[in-house]
Amino acid sequence: MRHGTADIVIIGGGIIGCSIAWRLASAGRRVILCDAGVLGGEASWAGAGMLVPGSEYSRACPELTFALESLAAWPGFAAQLERESDTSIDFELCGALELAGSPAEFEKLRTLATTQRRLGIDCRVVEAQELRGMVPGLTAPLEGAVYFPKEGQVDPRTVTAALRIACQRAGVEIREHTRVTRLIPRDGAVSIESSDGGVIEAARAVIAAGAWSNLIDAGVRLPRCFPVRGHLIGYALSAGSLPHVLRFHHTYAVQRRGGYTIAGTSEEQVGFDRTLDPATVDGIAARAHALAGGIIPAVAQDAWIGFRPGAKRGPSLGRLDDTAIWLAYGHYRNGILLAPATAARIAGEIISSLESRLA
Ligand SMILES: Cc1cc2nc3c(=O)[nH]c(=O)nc-3n(C[C@H](O)[C@H](O)[C@H](O)COP(=O)(O)OP(=O)(O)OC[C@H]3O[C@@H](n4cnc5c(N)ncnc54)[C@H](O)[C@@H]3O)c2cc1C
Repeated sequence: MRHGTADIVIIGGGIIGCSIAWRLASAGRRVILCDAGVLGGEASWAGAGMLVPGSEYSRACPELTFALESLAAWPGFAAQLERESDTSIDFELCGALELAGSPAEFEKLRTLATTQRRLGIDCRVVEAQELRGMVPGLTAPLEGAVYFPKEGQVDPRTVTAALRIACQRAGVEIREHTRVTRLIPRDGAVSIESSDGGVIEAARAVIAAGAWSNLIDAGVRLPRCFPVRGHLIGYALSAGSLPHVLRFHHTYAVQRRGGYTIAGTSEEQVGFDRTLDPATVDGIAARAHALAGGIIPAVAQDAWIGFRPGAKRGPSLGRLDDTAIWLAYGHYRNGILLAPATAARIAGEIISSLESRLA
């Protein structure tokens, strides 16, 4: 059992909680970061790491503005994180292609691209011949694509490994294998109880526990969040064999700089069942091979699952009523993309609230 005090306790050490902890500690705050398992061991370990708002948003909405803000923040976030952790995180804006398999699909993508450009998403239409030159090895019958030159990918496993180092160097106290069970707001502050009987007294707490967030007892009903299981598969391929992120219907492929290539995916609402489904794995492998058989072999080397933090109305970001508790969860399939903007927003709000309390 471990007690303690802190300015801020972060509950959940995925990419979201670690990024917020890093930002707060870098601003001189005393931060304790609790994780039920190990840092970066859940969705932030599983995620493909695509940074592709163009494939996610097609109309003006606050979520699109936030996603574009986060994409724009990624280069600075990555450079600072690499500098402060002495770790390469495999970030690159390699461009992404949304592919069309029929003339009707291509026409729809063209129209969408016009709308997306108006919304501030940088993209252009690519005809079939140019597409084949951009990605030799495509084997699906494709009519063309829309290209998003400023999108890309990052390896989320190296991001959380780097965040661990950056957090430690900034003075964050990391408590792994510490499951928070209850938050009790009192007198403008909050007590944080964990399953081992430990209690931490803090001025502020942040719930960033991904798909598990609303299992925590905060004394009030938290916005709903639920696990959406996804399967991914991986291959060790030659570096540079897949130059851009590919997205085609429910199939995608993304290559790390060293050549490791990931294909996905599935979306299943099966609770927290961690069983790999061989039929789903085979299905993804067949789709990926049919798409780019000149690059992606028929059989993958690795397969894994992860739980996206699903939320019907987008992520819950901000203060919970007038308590000392902040919410930062429900990023669904875009938590890697949204981490820099989420960290900036949540850390900024908490710092302002602590400063105005003292003023
Ligand atoms: C198959 C798949 C593909 C994906 N692809 C992409 C992609 O290409 N691009 C993209 O942007 N996003 C992608 N995502 C989504 C992205 O991975 C998630 O949105 C993001 O990782 C969520 O981060 P998080 O920190 O909120 O949650 P997590 O990484 O799940 O972290 C939550 C942490 O909280 C801890 N925890 C839980 N309960 C407690 C508790 N009671 N007390 C203390 N700690 C607790 C857990 O142990 C965990 O470490 C994908 C996800 C999956 C599963």
